[in-house]
Amino acid sequence: MTLLEVDGISVSFDGFQAINGLSFAIGEPELRAVIGPNGAGKTTFMDIVTGKTRPDSGRVLWGETNRNILGQSESAIARLGIGRKFQKPTVFEDQTVRENLAMALKDRRGPFSVLFGLPADEGRLLDFAEEVGLAAQLDRLAGELSHGQKQWLEIGMLLAQEPRLLLVDEPAAGMTPAEREHTTDLLKRLARRHAVVVVEHDMDFVRRLDCRVTVLHEGRVLAEGSLDHVTQNQDVIDVYLGR
Ligand code: ADP
Repeated sequence: MTLLEVDGISVSFDGFQAINGLSFAIGEPELRAVIGPNGAGKTTFMDIVTGKTRPDSGRVLWGETNRNILGQSESAIARLGIGRKFQKPTVFEDQTVRENLAMALKDRRGPFSVLFGLPADEGRLLDFAEEVGLAAQLDRLAGELSHGQKQWLEIGMLLAQEPRLLLVDEPAAGMTPAEREHTTDLLKRLARRHAVVVVEHDMDFVRRLDCRVTVLHEGRVLAEGSLDHVTQNQDVIDVYLGR
């Protein structure tokens, strides 16, 4: 099933056309890599889907009803089930892994559970810790975790928000080979139940993900298909070689 469809999106910044008639769809479940050279529009695409940037034209269609969600606030879009993970991990370093996850769980349950200090559901908290591979680290301070573990914690916190679509920006950047492997497995596992869009520069990592790839260039789709398919496309080769 198609979960998200961007349809004819265009946006310009001070006369510069950053996104130019962008159209493509993401299924649920699905793992998709979005690649493209610097300035291709990958970040702006995520900004538009999450409601941070409003395009000049086009539609963003969501869910079973194909509802156009453009114009909704960032928090309303997050509540629909669109979660975003930025490249730099933003966990609470002076809190434990358990406290970080508990906060994300309470956040999902709304302001009253935070206000009245209601405990987070320990069972669900453990599920999320296990899912991202941090069950043995629950009582460690997030600030003591490795870079990779912090990234997984943040993915766990995102999962606590019960997203249907996860937008993940360069998840393996700065990771050790073992952490990259764990991250590959984690993303593949998540993509059995969720729509997962990975924005990525690192072609070796994209190859490991072994998924459909969308290549952006100058704010539109240049090619789409398996990594082998798109890397044989002459337009893609020209763009990457800067011709
Ligand atoms: P990518 O993430 O693929 O590197 P971006 O989406 O960040 O590309 O940027 C696409 C283009 O739009 C770039 O040329 C960038 O300089 C420009 N751009 C993005 N955001 C803004 C902004 N807020 N103001 C002006 N130009 C912007």
